[in-house]
Amino acid sequence: MSHTPSRADFDQYMVPNYAPQKVIPVRGEGSRLWDQEGREYIDFAGGIAVNSLGHCHPVLVEALKAQADKLWHLSNVYTNEPALELARELTERTFADKVYLCSSGGEANEAALKLARRWAHDKHGAHKDKIISFRQSFHGRTLFTVSVGGQPKYSQGFGPVPGGVLHAEFNNLDSVRELVGDDTCAIMIEPMQGEGGIVPATPEFLQGLRDLCDEHDALLVFDEVQTGVGRSGSLYAYMDYGITPDILTSAKSLGGGFPVGAMLTTDRVAPVLVLGTHGSTYGGNALASAVALAAIRHIDTPEVLGGVAKRHDLFREHLEAINRKHGVFKEIRGMGLLIGAEMAPEYEGRAKDILPLAIEEGLMALIAGPNVLRMAPSLVIPEADIVEGLERLERAIARMVSAS
Ligand SMILES: *Cc1c(COP(=O)(O)O)cnc(C)c1O
Repeated sequence: MSHTPSRADFDQYMVPNYAPQKVIPVRGEGSRLWDQEGREYIDFAGGIAVNSLGHCHPVLVEALKAQADKLWHLSNVYTNEPALELARELTERTFADKVYLCSSGGEANEAALKLARRWAHDKHGAHKDKIISFRQSFHGRTLFTVSVGGQPKYSQGFGPVPGGVLHAEFNNLDSVRELVGDDTCAIMIEPMQGEGGIVPATPEFLQGLRDLCDEHDALLVFDEVQTGVGRSGSLYAYMDYGITPDILTSAKSLGGGFPVGAMLTTDRVAPVLVLGTHGSTYGGNALASAVALAAIRHIDTPEVLGGVAKRHDLFREHLEAINRKHGVFKEIRGMGLLIGAEMAPEYEGRAKDILPLAIEEGLMALIAGPNVLRMAPSLVIPEADIVEGLERLERAIARMVSAS
């Protein structure tokens, strides 16, 4: 007897750490999805800034299928061609000289933090262990990364947590100066906070962090898990700012939907990660690497990256028009196709109320905290889908407003 999975199965069979929406999508193409009942949705969520080329993009499907017939996995007892190509291309396209491959953003950040600690330890001694990060920041769900992340709700009740972590205020350089010293091992930051509400760092702030790191021989770590691989309009957001980190982490858009992560660094820092110091069975998996390689080659082109800026403007223009009519937003902000709309004081905390209404109207969106509506669609979403999706969003917002 065959069983059709339902949303009720989630509550019955899965640990309750998520609260997925009621519908179950079963098929996707480009920026459209269809659920079990055949209802169609426009996708502004993009799997949380992951589906960088939409659903089932032919370039990625082709890369996946070609590799699937050749070789999937070896472990790092052997290396493989797609992983070597991916690492080479990542270094050629960025500041980096060396790459560590893994399977998620949290893992990439865990590697970055361990590398920073090891580098400071080997170069300066065990006293240089302090990591400075920022309130409201998000770096993943491992115990180290929730400790470095600046949202206590993610680490509460999981103690004891790793020590030596200090939190400063985002975009406030004085708050960093108060904490930084010769015992500072690294400063970790998202150039634009994602989960924390789509908040871009100011160029002066990032430059100030770069200068403080240079002054104290600490490492500057950019977490570009959400902002990277075309999301900001450049390949990585550090390129928009013109400020270069010592370590950069990438995931989400990198695989276009296939789980993959990467930590990028320089020849100055990489050598301390000697044989046996770190690793992952799946890291550099041939299938994942082949898909990521195809994604990065397709995305890092003038056609795709240039299209991101154009789409950003279209989003902004329409969101501002919605706001002139309904007055629900305090501010519309973001870079490229990572866009946040902060709710106006009258609608404080109600961004989440828009999501189920939007689904009823045929639109999938995201929030970033309770007060910011977030959009992270495919980098190649057709302009017609943007316009139609925003019409659906407007209907959802009109319903929220009239129910208030
Ligand atoms: C999503 C995210 C992570 C965690 O990535 P996972 O793949 O979920 O482990 C880390 N940092 C930032 C900035 C993110 O947005």
